[in-house]
Amino acid sequence: MSDYPAGLEGAQQLDAADPLASFRERFELPPSPAHDDGRPAIYLCGNSLGLQPKALRAELNQELDDWARLGVEGHFEAEHPWYSAHAPLAEPVAAVVGALPHEVVVMNSLTVNLHLLLTSFFRPEGERRKLVIDGPTFPSDVYAAKSQLRCHGLGAEDLLVFAPREGEEVLRIEDVLERIEREGQQIATLLLSGVNYYTGQLLDIGAITAAAHAQGCLVGVDAAHGAGNADLRLHEWGVDFACWCHYKYLNSGPGALAGAFVHERHLGRGGAEDFAAFKARPRFEGWWGNDPETRFEMGGDFVPVKSADAWQLSNPPILALAPVRVSLRLFAEAGMERLRAKSKQLTGYLEHLIDGLSAESFTVITPRDPERRGCQLSILAHDQPEALFKRLQAAGVICDFRRPNVIRVAPTPLYNTFEDCWRFAQVLGEVSG
Ligand SMILES: *Cc1c(COP(=O)(O)O)cnc(C)c1O
Repeated sequence: MSDYPAGLEGAQQLDAADPLASFRERFELPPSPAHDDGRPAIYLCGNSLGLQPKALRAELNQELDDWARLGVEGHFEAEHPWYSAHAPLAEPVAAVVGALPHEVVVMNSLTVNLHLLLTSFFRPEGERRKLVIDGPTFPSDVYAAKSQLRCHGLGAEDLLVFAPREGEEVLRIEDVLERIEREGQQIATLLLSGVNYYTGQLLDIGAITAAAHAQGCLVGVDAAHGAGNADLRLHEWGVDFACWCHYKYLNSGPGALAGAFVHERHLGRGGAEDFAAFKARPRFEGWWGNDPETRFEMGGDFVPVKSADAWQLSNPPILALAPVRVSLRLFAEAGMERLRAKSKQLTGYLEHLIDGLSAESFTVITPRDPERRGCQLSILAHDQPEALFKRLQAAGVICDFRRPNVIRVAPTPLYNTFEDCWRFAQVLGEVSG
């Protein structure tokens, strides 16, 4: 693709025509660490930590004021009543990940949710006891997977890693499907990344889920890098469970509350027998997963809410819900469809500029097909990657480096501009020459 207008002026024209351009003003842009004139950094790190929405301070103050003014009465009298504060988030977060509102809940943090869901959906039995992860795998997911196996008395031989071929950087879908076909009867559960944190690859989750279900396996997605970034269709793809965080593309702050998804087929909504199976499913339980009507009955029988809320343990941290609420409001206003449209254009533009550098010192390993990636481009540096990364930083770029040799840059459609991409490509050309 080369139908982008050229030069800085061209970038500014693209920004002028961007219907989402005004969202940038609603975020705190960190100043460039390399300059002292207050200009903003070229921030391409929303894949790691999204920026702070300006509206957050007032929202947090509202909670502090309500607590000060109302004490315990805030559970029902606060602006956002605490007793049910997680509930209004279900609809907007469902819209972001392609789910039905009763399939999602905002709670805990990502790895915690991963464990809670694997407890229910990784149930090795007999010959069917393998847990599959795709590679390269985020460290926390490897630890979660191995420790789950250990909790079932299983070992490393029951962990299967679907990794790219020797000498290749990203997975081939035909290899994944072929392994499922060949080894599916031994696989209990597959845990796939929504968008791979290292390569930026988005797998065809729908096709993989269909193949896995045909073999009787369950499928989960860790959508940490997909949520708020890629066009996720968790419900339509039919995945059994998923989890994600809200501090990357969803801008809810460091360590923010995470999300969890359970497909409605597992929520006991299909009659008495279905409900009995839902109730009996192994699950770690607490009072906030119980039907709110009987939540306060002492020592009663646990009656799971027929929604993803059934996995909720505790009453939610109110101050931590506020940033997720603010962020989801911005997403609802912008709309995932418009964000994806801009994202494809923005990342395509950045790719086009990087191609134009015709540099030999690095290669972009992220798939070129816009349907097989989100906004992140992973730049594999052939020589002294860390030095290249440091030179980018010294020129006012904030991006990140993942060992051994990948620099990740992510132009996010909510607050990045075409001009950011143009300036980044200028800097990359200068420092890699
Ligand atoms: C960011 C990320 C995590 C982080 O886990 P936390 O529990 O939020 O600390 C885990 N897995 C993947 C794939 C990630 O991208």
